Amino acid sequence: MNIKRALISLWDKKGAEELAKSLQKMGVEIVSTGNTARFLKDSGVSVTPVEEVTGSPEILDGRVKTLHPKIHGGILAKESEAHQGELDKLDIKRIDLVAVNLYPFTEVIKSKDTDLDTALENIDIGGPTMVRAAAKNYNKCIVLVDTQDYSLILDKLKTQGDISKELRKELAVKAFSHTAQYDGAITEYLSGGKFLSILAEKKDTLRYGENPHQQADVFVNSSDTSASLLNATKISGKQLSYNNYNDADAALNAVMEFGSKKPAVVAVKHATPCGIAQGENLKSAFINARKCDEKSIFGGIVAVNTEVDESTAKEMNKIFLEIIIAPSFTKEALEVLQKKKNLRLLKVDFSKGEASCELKSINGGLLRQSKNQSRFLTKDITVACGELPKDKMDEVMFAYKSVKHVKSNAIAVTKGTSTVGLGCGATKRIDAACKALEQAKENGGGEILASDAFFPFEDVVNIAADYKIKYILQPGGSKNDDLSIEACRKHGITLIMTGMRHFKH
Ligand code: 5GP
Repeated sequence: MNIKRALISLWDKKGAEELAKSLQKMGVEIVSTGNTARFLKDSGVSVTPVEEVTGSPEILDGRVKTLHPKIHGGILAKESEAHQGELDKLDIKRIDLVAVNLYPFTEVIKSKDTDLDTALENIDIGGPTMVRAAAKNYNKCIVLVDTQDYSLILDKLKTQGDISKELRKELAVKAFSHTAQYDGAITEYLSGGKFLSILAEKKDTLRYGENPHQQADVFVNSSDTSASLLNATKISGKQLSYNNYNDADAALNAVMEFGSKKPAVVAVKHATPCGIAQGENLKSAFINARKCDEKSIFGGIVAVNTEVDESTAKEMNKIFLEIIIAPSFTKEALEVLQKKKNLRLLKVDFSKGEASCELKSINGGLLRQSKNQSRFLTKDITVACGELPKDKMDEVMFAYKSVKHVKSNAIAVTKGTSTVGLGCGATKRIDAACKALEQAKENGGGEILASDAFFPFEDVVNIAADYKIKYILQPGGSKNDDLSIEACRKHGITLIMTGMRHFKH
């Protein structure tokens, strides 16, 4: 056994007893700091207090415990004769393993009641110093920063007496990423948000990017715990591509808009919906979402907000889909869907909720904004002209939620709680309206037209009248609002002002 001495200093004592006892059984001497030493002694482990090694008491309320040549010399000494000679001369014993976890700075600053003094006190100094020292000298000193690694390392030590160089290096990388995240959080906090710190870990190298000649990777931001494709369970199918991630994320965000009370289906192509529907059951919602644009959904991505059952699965299997995202699938549904070998099935835990912010890269930097989570409240709307019967509210809400997720300029034409025409990504609003209305006509007509932003002119209203639209939903706020109101009045259309714009580019 190559490990003779271990230093254990843990804020979170989870797994400490098992770690120390197992090491001790293998003949390892345990050195430990104040509370950790007390905890281990109480659990029946014999411990050398760190003061005994340093010859100095812990001072300044624990600010200085392990910051001492007797500790850092023991961690940092190389294999070389020269280093060994210095250790011998100064009577420093090597430390072969360091298990540390840090003061809970990130937890503490989450609370609104935390003042600056408390935050500063929760900046660990000796812990990261030991972690970095051991990580630098990983060939001689094993570093453990994650409780979840204890059992694997103990296993290897028991069976092989040591761990491989590769594993030592892996643990060192983990240790540096841990202290980098820790320092990042401190920097962000103390600067009042002037610095943005993200240390994202590569999840995968992708086959290619948006086009085959582009290189691409996908990274996980471990500080974001929202419902996501990156923490989804992939039940079956091959790796997701760059475009799959982008499109599937749009589908997931859109379907989460509808909550989980009533089944909803969103079909996405090129990161914008091509069909959205809500219904009493998932199968009928899927059929209606598909009907909106039978061609675009081909090879598309479908996200649903309730469990996929067998009858919906059979319906889904009638067309070629790339990915289905759902909170769960019944066993029978899986049997049906898994017949298609290339179909990716992703189970996402919707209860984790939406992310709070989104980032976009531009040349030389990043843009950050809070997510568009604003909900449309019935009390916020005004009816500028015409009548809005109470029993139309669900349908109006559906149209509004749908258009919010369509790329701007966006127009959604709906019937009941299904989209029947979607105009997206047009540089002129009237073009988006023409496309949505023409598609709606092919689908048997629509009743409600929703727009993501205000009408600069009355032209959308006039064309909507030609297609027999009865309700128009738009934020309002144009200096030409009066023209649109007047046109609605003339055509007998109810005009609803939502007061909230939903650009999506
Ligand atoms: P304990 O609970 O054992 O008294 O202290 C364990 C914690 O102290 C660990 O989170 C460890 O990172 C931290 N620590 C160890 N040495 C030092 C030091 O010299 N200074 C500071 N500020 N923290 C230390």
